[in-house]
Amino acid sequence: MTIGKIIDGKAYAAGLRDTVAEGVAAFTAQAGRKPGLAVVLVGEDPASSVYVRSKGKMTVAVGMESYEFKRPVTIGQDDLLDLIAELNQDDRIDGILVQLPLPSHIDESSVIAAIDPAKDVDGFHVVNAGRLATGQEALVPCTPMGCIMLLKDELGDLSGLEAVVVGRSNIVGKPMAQLLLAESCTVTIAHSRTRDLASIVHRADIVVAAVGRAEMVKGEWIKPGATVIDVGINRVTDTEDGKSRIVGDVATAEALAHVRAITPVPGGVGPMTIAVLLRNTLVAAHARAGLPKPE
Ligand code: NDP
Repeated sequence: MTIGKIIDGKAYAAGLRDTVAEGVAAFTAQAGRKPGLAVVLVGEDPASSVYVRSKGKMTVAVGMESYEFKRPVTIGQDDLLDLIAELNQDDRIDGILVQLPLPSHIDESSVIAAIDPAKDVDGFHVVNAGRLATGQEALVPCTPMGCIMLLKDELGDLSGLEAVVVGRSNIVGKPMAQLLLAESCTVTIAHSRTRDLASIVHRADIVVAAVGRAEMVKGEWIKPGATVIDVGINRVTDTEDGKSRIVGDVATAEALAHVRAITPVPGGVGPMTIAVLLRNTLVAAHARAGLPKPE
């Protein structure tokens, strides 16, 4: 039995961070300042705190300035919007990331809408979503951008390939579909109301699973030779030893017998997200300084 390739997202992300670091050095020499990324963290959710700390470390590691703004969980919406307005005006800051989720008394979409689209390195602002959908230069959400980089690295030209994206969220599924369309794939978006998901997935040359359900996509659904990108991050508890572990949305062990290549969880898409965030910050810094987009 042939076994498909496991795509090493960790190694690709490390290479991307090296490229960003070179770009940061060149930008700093040219612009006379370092690119700056501001991360806003509301409350003390442990997972969010870990993400923010690791984003801060990697930002500094590529030579950028990292600014962290921690606010108590009780912060009012107006005060948070005032902070965003200050960051929009601050010339040292090229990228603003508000760590989600926000506490329930704050309207996330109002906060995202308040970010200057030129500094929206998460790519969640409607201006960037609209630009992406209409084929204009945009800051693109980091996770789907990471997926498309891995796909192009694995497959080269994606033109004409049949792609199925499972999931239609604004942060993963929809921008993923737009990026695949921009690469001239034939794109289907599946979701919780989709009928006969197995046969839809089975016609795809490229499957992107962004659902949030542990190992929902079965190996036998995959067309032989397809490439599978597994975005899901699901914590499951082993029935045998009671230990918890992270699995994706795809039953990887089964899928390996069918795929050409597949991203593992962890170590596939996950590491790409922060690397692309750094790249987006570098791209935003160039645009704000009137410099051409970096390679
Ligand atoms: P959302 O919960 O926002 O969206 C999930 C999508 O899956 C929805 O469109 C939903 O459909 C669809 N869905 C749910 N159940 C089914 C089903 N039975 N069949 C088909 N479709 C279904 O999640 P996100 O997009 O934010 O994230 C998806 C996964 O990716 C999560 O596991 C998340 O943790 C992970 N993730 C990983 C990142 C990384 O860095 N690797 C970054 C971001 C997310 P409907 O719209 O009809 O409800």
